[in-house]
Amino acid sequence: MTDVFDELEVAPWNEVSRLHEQLLQQQLDYVVERSEFYRDRIGALRGQVRSLEDLRYLPFTAKDDVRQSLLAKPPLGLHLAAEPSEVVQIQSSSGTTGMPTFVAATKRDLETWNSMGARVFYANGFRPGDWVMHAYAMGRGFVGGLVNIEHLQHLGCAVIPLGAESGTERLLRAIDHLKPRAMCATPSMVAYLGAAAQDVLGKPASELSIRAISVGGEPGGGIPAIRENMEQLWGADVRDMMGGADFGSTYWAECDEKDGMHLCSQGALHVELIDPDTLDPIPISEGATGEIVYTALRREATPLVRYRMGDIVTVSSLDCRCGRTGFKIKTHGRADDMLIVRGVNVFPAAIKDIVMQYAPDTTGYLKIDLDFDGHSTYEPLRLRVEMGKASVRTPEELGATLEGVLRDQLTVRTVIQIVPEGSIERPGAAKEKLLERVGRP
Ligand SMILES: [Zn+2]
Repeated sequence: MTDVFDELEVAPWNEVSRLHEQLLQQQLDYVVERSEFYRDRIGALRGQVRSLEDLRYLPFTAKDDVRQSLLAKPPLGLHLAAEPSEVVQIQSSSGTTGMPTFVAATKRDLETWNSMGARVFYANGFRPGDWVMHAYAMGRGFVGGLVNIEHLQHLGCAVIPLGAESGTERLLRAIDHLKPRAMCATPSMVAYLGAAAQDVLGKPASELSIRAISVGGEPGGGIPAIRENMEQLWGADVRDMMGGADFGSTYWAECDEKDGMHLCSQGALHVELIDPDTLDPIPISEGATGEIVYTALRREATPLVRYRMGDIVTVSSLDCRCGRTGFKIKTHGRADDMLIVRGVNVFPAAIKDIVMQYAPDTTGYLKIDLDFDGHSTYEPLRLRVEMGKASVRTPEELGATLEGVLRDQLTVRTVIQIVPEGSIERPGAAKEKLLERVGRP
């Protein structure tokens, strides 16, 4: 028998599609009847959608549409489709600009979220009975907090919800004392804790009990140099996962093969791929690159149809030795984070990946100083990169080397300022921010 949390994960893909087609019909009827937002938006088009392919006739829902909907009818928006009394939980999505977005769930929505989340953590190597140190931020309604805890409990794990806010020392001492086998956190938190163990506990993190680590919340887990650093520090298996607050927490996960994240949202979210420029659908095939578009298939409280979360991905594989039939993706980051330097698309995570490969000459910490408005510039990109204490190069050599490699590999021109170890603020409990808005030079 294949080792998965849920048999639907290994069902033939045409069976999954049939299920999605049937759920889509029910969901569209539901949103047109119950959500003011979607009644106006797709009520007249509803009859045209008979198959999953027909979804293309419906308009997209953008992040800004959701923001406008929330403002137009507080507190939960025009798109709310359940009675407020049926809502049992309200989460907040981090929101890159100003106002946080609120996401509501009914009891059944939580069950749907948990079905996806438990598949994710199982694929990441967690098992019922495992003790799990939870080191994502717990505050501000962030779904990495409470929602991940609910997923882990649904899977049957024992959760230790200390959260990132507990701080390095408390987290490391608790791991040393309780000896959990598993941990979940952002990649920057995992790397930071791993590096601090020797100072705090007098022994390396690899001598602690953690053997399975699930990372998410920011890009990095799937980048070879970042994964290797974490695996070496902890002597543990590190796997990536991904999702977003609008549909729970997490619904993509790496399996034992660790070469791309499987779709884990069968029966809950239908996924399309589109060209972010022309907005045309792209068939899901090996090597296809595009932006993910999500449609919730059984969402009661705040349903979304054809929602553009902004993740740009490449389909890395349609099948896998593990038996899961959900296709696998590699992520390039959020479209929101993407920079355009002289017309070339550059993802900050890709820059970080290259800088990390130069450890220990660098510590891997860097900032991209944005001295321009928006995301597009014709000037070289200005970077601050931290030099490691153990570096055998001079700052001048290191800067010139990195500028050359970034130009060759990413076709991006940079001006790099090398700064001493410790001068770039560590992310600690927060997500690592690679971009910093600065004044013009
Ligand atoms: Zn697999």
